[in-house]
Amino acid sequence: MRFSKTFIKTLRNAPKDETARGAQYLIRAGYVHKELAGVYDYLPLGLRVLEKIKAIIRDELDQIGCQELLLTTLQNPEPWQKTDRWDIKKMDVWFKTQLAAGGELGLAPTHEEPITNLMKTYISSYKDLPIAAYQFQTKFRNELRAKSGIMRTREFIMKDLYDFAATEEEHEVFYHKAEAAYKKIYERIGLGDCTYQTFASGGVFAKYSHEFQTIIDVGEDTIYFNQDKSIVLNEEVVNDEVLAEFGVKREELQSARAAEVGNIFTLKTKYSAPLDLEYTDKDGERHLVLMGCYGIGVSRVMGVVAEKFADERGLNWPTQIAPYKIYLVGIGEQGAQYAERLYQGYEEEILLDDRDGRPGEKFADAELIGLPYRVVVSDKTLANGQVEVTKRTTGETKLLPAEGLKIENIDF
Ligand code: ATP
Ligand code: MG
Repeated sequence: MRFSKTFIKTLRNAPKDETARGAQYLIRAGYVHKELAGVYDYLPLGLRVLEKIKAIIRDELDQIGCQELLLTTLQNPEPWQKTDRWDIKKMDVWFKTQLAAGGELGLAPTHEEPITNLMKTYISSYKDLPIAAYQFQTKFRNELRAKSGIMRTREFIMKDLYDFAATEEEHEVFYHKAEAAYKKIYERIGLGDCTYQTFASGGVFAKYSHEFQTIIDVGEDTIYFNQDKSIVLNEEVVNDEVLAEFGVKREELQSARAAEVGNIFTLKTKYSAPLDLEYTDKDGERHLVLMGCYGIGVSRVMGVVAEKFADERGLNWPTQIAPYKIYLVGIGEQGAQYAERLYQGYEEEILLDDRDGRPGEKFADAELIGLPYRVVVSDKTLANGQVEVTKRTTGETKLLPAEGLKIENIDF
């Protein structure tokens, strides 16, 4: 991408009410635009990050046999009335709207009801099972408080996956595959070292559910962990009975602030029972389908990464989800010409800062935008046959030969 051809401008200030550092940078660097509290637009740079996160998730889920679909945002109240979640007292985050012809619709805060309902058309026999289907969808939630930029918003992008199984074993096989896929996803996104699978309260059916929690100061949750025993517990499950079960004493646990980046749940028949989602077994008997649901807050993950790796100068994206690999600055006539040549054919890897402007401003923007490498080529470096490459994470600089430089070989 050519900086001169985008409409993005880096900003000196973020809105006053934006307190988290990562959130301020995302706005100042032109990744997102704040419409109102808890409602954000994704600009070209931000959209690229989201799409890269989605591509990693999609790849891992497709590998465990999941199928992607796209459900609607507008919700028919009927299935939600059947599960008793249409009432605002039962589900306090509803946004609802009116049909011109009369009647109410909801804006989906989640999709258990519609997908369970939909599967009644496609599941009739044990031969149709198991099924695992997912989507990337905008969810609407009337959250009381928006917080930490895109980490808690009223409109956000979730990946939600649902599995449908005939037997407990069939469901469990998939649950373990999903667990493993989630681990790989957070690793590939760059959060592997600071993300833990925790035991969380499981609701009515399973004793525990699992959450994926990333340790981060601005997180809204508290987790307790014991690294030796690799036990990680959500605050709400820490009590004497649970500690005894895990064979750990309270004083052996450390606490940390964390953000929930995903969760996995066994639902059993919580939705299939009220919505009558059944299958016929080998002997012609009817049974309720067993379900699980698996969420990842795609936009929250982006916010968490922004916050986690930011420093006093700006953002710092892990290579796998950075919008571009290289921030390229050409200085002087020769430098600018060299930069143009290097850019050719690498429009997807390079953000070429070809704007009029002082090098100092461009360097500051390079740090704010936080791509993995900054490449500077000037008449002076070229006089020595070199270009200067700086790694954003460490600040380490290398002088590489200008002749035959290949973007794909920049890796240190
Ligand atoms: P939280 O406890 O943070 O409110 P939740 O239990 O309501 O999360 P789910 O309904 O299971 O979350 O949604 C799945 C994932 O979507 C969560 O793990 C989280 O990463 C993300 N998420 C939930 N609410 C929001 C929100 N308001 N803004 C952005 N992401 C969210
Ligand atoms: Mg919530």
